[in-house]
Amino acid sequence: MKVLIIEDEKSVVESLALAFKKENYEVISALDGREGKEKFISEKPDIVILDLMLPEIRGEELCRFIKSHSDTPIIVISAKDSEIDKVLALELGADDYLVKPFSIRELIIRMKKRLESTKKDKTDSHKKLYELGPFYLDEEKYEFKLENKLIELTPKEFSIMKMLLSKPKRVWTRRELTNQIWGYDYVSLKSIDVYIKRLREKLGRYGDLIKTVRGVGYKLEV
Ligand code: CA
Repeated sequence: MKVLIIEDEKSVVESLALAFKKENYEVISALDGREGKEKFISEKPDIVILDLMLPEIRGEELCRFIKSHSDTPIIVISAKDSEIDKVLALELGADDYLVKPFSIRELIIRMKKRLESTKKDKTDSHKKLYELGPFYLDEEKYEFKLENKLIELTPKEFSIMKMLLSKPKRVWTRRELTNQIWGYDYVSLKSIDVYIKRLREKLGRYGDLIKTVRGVGYKLEV
């Protein structure tokens, strides 16, 4: 399990990191919002511990960003203890909120609870059939339909489409897509762009539902 701590107080980061490592979590940290955003994208943590008052990018904005791109649980830790701040953070998608100073024990218990419930969600996601917006993909029958019309996809295009449909809104890096589809590291990342281009053409007017995330990769927005 990988934890990303986004917090500008070094001493807090250090004590959390120490406690998390004792629980055998892999720990990554960022000392400002921008670094936090970059690490979230590149490291794909299983859970995020997020401070609100951060330099560069505010915690609230980061919270919204993370939740619009993934279902990664977020626990907010903040000195802001008013009811309004808590409600706002939860409305932005935070899964839990702890007011500073808090007990690290309690934070760990809450983290475990969050990680447990995401694990349950994941076991449900070994789906073979996806229906989303105009798309329909049946892995067992190897069928892909667009507005009920059968579309012929090559095996690689089919795999890309399946990945995108399995987690709409999640950003897939070009490296992830490439590794998943070719299974090894040395294929040029440019190939994936070529496949996405062809796939978009086959999707016709729905092609632009596959969004380019500049400098990162692709995602599906339905
Ligand atoms: Ca702070």
